[in-house]
Formats: sequence, C-alpha cells, structure tokens
Amino acid sequence: MPRPPRVYKCSAIVLRQRKLGEADKIITLYTAEFGKVDAVAKGVRRIKSRLAGHVEPLRHASFMLARGRNLDIVTQVQSIESFQALRDDLNKLSHALYAAELLDRATEERSENFDLYRLLLDTLRRFTERDDLEQILRYYEMRLLMQLGYKPELELCVVCGSELGEGKVVRWVASLGGAVCPSCKPRDVSLRALPQESLAAMRMLQSDNATVIDDLVLDHETAHDIERILRDAIHHALDQDVRSAAFLDDVRRTARPVRQTRDAGVR
Ligand SMILES: [Zn+2]
Repeated sequence: MPRPPRVYKCSAIVLRQRKLGEADKIITLYTAEFGKVDAVAKGVRRIKSRLAGHVEPLRHASFMLARGRNLDIVTQVQSIESFQALRDDLNKLSHALYAAELLDRATEERSENFDLYRLLLDTLRRFTERDDLEQILRYYEMRLLMQLGYKPELELCVVCGSELGEGKVVRWVASLGGAVCPSCKPRDVSLRALPQESLAAMRMLQSDNATVIDDLVLDHETAHDIERILRDAIHHALDQDVRSAAFLDDVRRTARPVRQTRDAGVR
C-alpha cells in the first residue's frame, strides 16, 4: 500500500491509549482507511489539554495525523460520536472495551480492512442503543472470526467432510476450528458437545445481516454454550487470552452502572 501523504486525514475509533513520557499518550486507532494505526497525542495528560477528551478509548472521530519519524502525531481531532451512553454504564462499557480489545489483539498495524472498522462501529452503536449485550457480542465475535479468515466450520465435518445434517450428534473441536460428525473421533483434541440448538444459533450468527440478532432466541444453556465455543474459537485463532474477557466475567457478577472516569479503559 502506498504511504499516506505527510499530513493525512482518517476516520477512526480509539481502541486504547497508553502513557508516553511526562505528558503524552500513544493512542491506538482503528481507521477506516489504513487499518490499525498508533499515533502520539501530545500533551493530553495536561489538565488543560483540548485533545484529551477526544482521544479516550471508544471515541469515534475524524483525525488529522502528521507522519513522524517513528510514530505519527495527532494534529487535529473532531469527534463524531462520543458513545457517552457506554461510559455511563459499566456493563455496557466492559462489553464495548472487550470488543475494542479483541480487534486490537487480532489485527496487525496498517493492514486496511474497512469491514472490520464497520463491524466495530456498528457494534458500539448497538451497545449504545440496546440491552441485549450478550447477543450483540456473540454476533461481533463470530463476524470478527470470519473477517479474520477463521470462519467456524458448521456445515461439513472438519475431519471427513460429510454434511452435519439435522438430528446428528455434533461436537465442536476448537483446535480444528469446526464441528465433527458422530463417526469421527479425532484423538488428542478436546471435544465439546454442540447440541442442535447451539449449532443452529451459531449458523445464524454467521449471517452478514445483523438482524439475525433480533431473531435469536436463546435459552440459558444455549447462550452459555455458544459463548464458550466462540471464546474457544477466538482463543485458538489468536492463540492468547484476551484480558478483557476476565474483566467481563467479573462485571457480569457485580455489574452496577457507574459514572466512568476519563481514564477508563487505559492500560
Ligand atoms: Zn466426520
């Protein structure tokens, strides 16, 4: 991909930020135009910084960046969406930060992927407007895996290739990225039961039409099943634990909406 000009504009979502020196921060952006980009936001840790509010995690903004020797530098920011409703609700915030962290961990710098940008943006909007956070997150996780080239195989047995038709007892094999038929018993891998309800729900989540989120009716067990399976699939795809996942589990136990401080989500 050609290098962008010396000063360039991009639309981005702030994935995270970390301290740099006395007064600056490095912010990680997911841009519509260039994929993931790290940039320096100068002076944002000073009380009077005009930039500070615009570069906190989950901001959707229009950025002007200047090419630097190592890292690019934020010269201007114009907020598009603050997603304040997410910051005012700890449960929503934790789900949204998890989504952002997942994208951060799963992508390399400067590898353009507009669909991933769009997926995160749409997901943050859904978190803002709706309360079915788990279903929104499951859809996000599935679509993210697919965008990254790790689409879970749910139609054909990943060992023998036979169709996983109705009424078959199917099991999930995380290390193979898909389901196996009843005749296949791969050795030395962990198998997880994948009941028909869960298989059907997982297949629905693969749709590129997000209205399937509304059509999903999940009992407690099925919801738990697909959460575990997608967590497994992500773990294998990224080969690492995602920190926010543990945070999310904590929040689920103790969630209370609270006002967030400016540094929420900084690590
Ligand atoms: Zn098979």
